[in-house]
Formats: sequence, C-alpha cells, structure tokens
Amino acid sequence: MTATTKIANPRDIAHNVMTLVAELNLQPTPQVYHVFYSYLTDEIPELSQLIKVLIRNTQELDEETVFRIYHKFLGAHAMQQRLNLGVEGLQAAVERVEEAVHNVIRETEGFCEHLDNASDQLSSDDITLEIARDVTRGLSSATRDAHGRYSEFNGCLDEYHNEVRRVRSELELVRRDALTDTLTGIANRKNFDASLRDAVTTTMETGAPLSLLMIDIDHFKNFNDNHGHRAGDGVLKAVARVLVNSTKGADTVARYGGEEFAVILPDTTLENATKLANKLRDNVSGQRIINKKTGKDFGKLTVSIGLTSYKLGENILEFVDRADGALYQAKQEGRNTCIMIM
Ligand code: GH3
Ligand code: MG
Ligand code: MG
Repeated sequence: MTATTKIANPRDIAHNVMTLVAELNLQPTPQVYHVFYSYLTDEIPELSQLIKVLIRNTQELDEETVFRIYHKFLGAHAMQQRLNLGVEGLQAAVERVEEAVHNVIRETEGFCEHLDNASDQLSSDDITLEIARDVTRGLSSATRDAHGRYSEFNGCLDEYHNEVRRVRSELELVRRDALTDTLTGIANRKNFDASLRDAVTTTMETGAPLSLLMIDIDHFKNFNDNHGHRAGDGVLKAVARVLVNSTKGADTVARYGGEEFAVILPDTTLENATKLANKLRDNVSGQRIINKKTGKDFGKLTVSIGLTSYKLGENILEFVDRADGALYQAKQEGRNTCIMIM
C-alpha cells in the first residue's frame, strides 16, 4: 500500500490505515494511526517519502521509529508551524474584516446621503409624479446595493469566525502536546506541577483531602542493562498504562522524571490512597513483561511507592518532599512496597 493510492472516503482511509498498521505489526496507538493516516493521504510529502523509503527497504518500521517520525512531522514542532500558519490566516482574516467594516461604513454614509436627498426632493413643493417615481426607483436600487454589501460583510464575518475556530483548535492541540510526556502519552512534569498547584488550591478552599503517590521502578537500571534501552522504554509505557488503568478520572497520573511516576489523588484520604497504592503495586508486579514482537519473556518488575496526604497550609514543596521521603523509605525497606508518611 503506498501513499499514492488514491483513497478519498474517510472510512476507506481508516480501513487501509488499520490494515497497513497490522501488516507492519505495530500497535494502533493514536500516534501510529496519525502517521499512517498522514502517509496514506499524502498530507505531508516529506513524511510519505520517508515512510515509502523505509517500507521499500524493508527496514523494520518499529514503534520507536514511527514515534520519532510522529514527533518530527506531526508533534509539537510541526504543530508550532501549523499554529504560525493559523495566526497568519487569522491576521489576513482580520484585515479582510477591517476592510469590509470600512466599506460598510462608507456605504452607510452614502446610503444616508441618498436618503437625505430623496427626502429633500420628496418634500419639495414642485414635486411631480415623474420625479417621485425616479426618487423611489433610486431608493430601491440603493437599498438593493446596501443589502448586497451587508451580505458580503456577513460572509466575511463567517469566514473570520471559521478562522478563529480553526486557530483555537490548533492552539488546543499545541497546549495538549506541551503537557504530554512524549514517550508514555501521560501528563508530563510540567502538567504535574500545574495539576498539583490546582489540586492544592482546591483543597485549601474546600478542605477536601488530597493525597500524592510517588512511584519508582525498582532496579530499572539493571533492566536496561540486561535488555536494552528500547525494551526499557516499552516498560515505561506499560507501567504508565497500568497506572492509568488503575486510577479514575479526577486523578492525575504523570511521569515525574526518568523512571519515576506520580499520581495526584484529589478527594482521597490517606487510608484510601494506601489501598490504591497497594493495588497499583500489585498490578505492576502481577504482570509479566513480554516483548510483543519476539514473544521474549523479560520476567517481572516491581515498583516502590511513597505516599502522603496534604496538610492544610503547608507549601507544595513540603508536601512533595514528604512523599519523596516515603518513597526513599520504601526503597530502604527492600523495594516492592508502599510506605505512607502521615
Ligand atoms: P532503584 O530500585 O533504586 O530505583 O534502582 P534503579 O536502577 O531503578 O534506579 P537508578 O536511579 O539507579 O536508575 C534509574 C534508571 O532509569 C537509569 C536510567 O537508565 C533509567 N531510565 C530513566 N529514564 C529512562 C527512559 O526514558 N528510558 C529508559 N529505557 N530508561 C530510563
Ligand atoms: Mg528506580
Ligand atoms: Mg529513580
């Protein structure tokens, strides 16, 4: 299947993307889907060319390569360029609206002048039927013209609104991208910091409990050394998935850094946070790590978890440090354990 295949129907495109992704033995993640969607629709010629070459050379198109392609052509950088184009489009639309407003003002002045003249003529003593007819004809033609101009103006406004909507959704995509960890697709550190600030503010306002888990993969350096960094990356994605699948909507699961994750738990007491931490620990340690392609079994991995709850009035650093301290203790106590500090 190549980028030059002409496919117009979105359903056909989706079907062909899925077929190709399956043929290449890739996971149909949103990023993989986006890359092959772009390839099959020839949205970005450079991307299509690159994929074509990789497929032709029967080079292994693994997830990491696709991931890099995604970030090169479709990720934050590409998004920034699209945003710039959006802003330029918006500027052009604003200029068109300004011009249209000027035209409408000019037209309105002309129309008012026309009305004044008509009124003078109609109220003059020596008005004849012929003159009255001419004046009426003139008025109706001026009204038609004004109507036409207003329609044009409305069209211009619609165009402007569409442009604003488009730029707004581009902005939203860029914002989301800037807050997402590129490897795992969960919240990144920046997102974590902002979410924690929000959560602490809410807790200070409402007095509702707020708990925090810090999670670190045990002996991850050994895993990387034994199985390679790429397998390690796969593990980070898998752990992120377990954490997301084991928590609920209001919770924020973030990659805090390297092989460390954090989970913000609004409205959660220390007791419930402890239960959840134990569940997370079990869910991670209960999974065998298997290479999807080769079927190779890497065995099991465990995590250590430190947790604590927010004390009203303390600053955020104290809160995070306490959770970190609990994590440190969990490591000291032999790993694969959860330690809570009040
Ligand atoms: P501990 O049980 O004490 O946490 O031991 P550890 O080996 O997990 O801890 P250490 O801090 O010594 O090593 C962390 C390792 O995590 C080292 C680094 O290679 C790995 N790591 C950090 N970020 C990434 C990443 O993005 N991908 C991969 N594959 N490995 C990473
Ligand atoms: Mg570790
Ligand atoms: Mg660590």
